[in-house]
Amino acid sequence: MDCVFCKIAKGEIPSKKAYEDDQILAFYDLDPQAPVHILLIPKAHIASANELTEENSAVVSHIFLTAAKLAKELGLEKGYRIVNNCGEDGGQTVQHLHFHLLGGRSMKWPPG
Ligand code: 5GP
Ligand code: ZN
Repeated sequence: MDCVFCKIAKGEIPSKKAYEDDQILAFYDLDPQAPVHILLIPKAHIASANELTEENSAVVSHIFLTAAKLAKELGLEKGYRIVNNCGEDGGQTVQHLHFHLLGGRSMKWPPG
């Protein structure tokens, strides 16, 4: 399958890793939108939040717990944002489920 994040998960495309285990990978975004901008992905291919099921969704909890740990390690004590873009209107450009961990600046609301 021609999926860029599957290739990153397998190490076929290099990335700057922030965390890795057998289930998930966290790596720095190529085009950072904040001083800290990390992407967290399941290693297994899930196309988007729409493809989550009772069977495959435990990884989302693992991703959120890992994002909070990374935020603490990276000194984001003032706060941070976790974002999932889903589908065309959501602004999803890579069709492999991912969560953005953004921090190091004050975030705006509502997002654009
Ligand atoms: P989306 O718009 O789908 O929510 O986010 C996709 C993100 O993946 C974007 O922020 C983009 O900069 C990042 N991205 C796309 N291709 C690569 C890549 O090959 N390596 C890394 N590190 N980030 C990527
Ligand atoms: Zn994939």
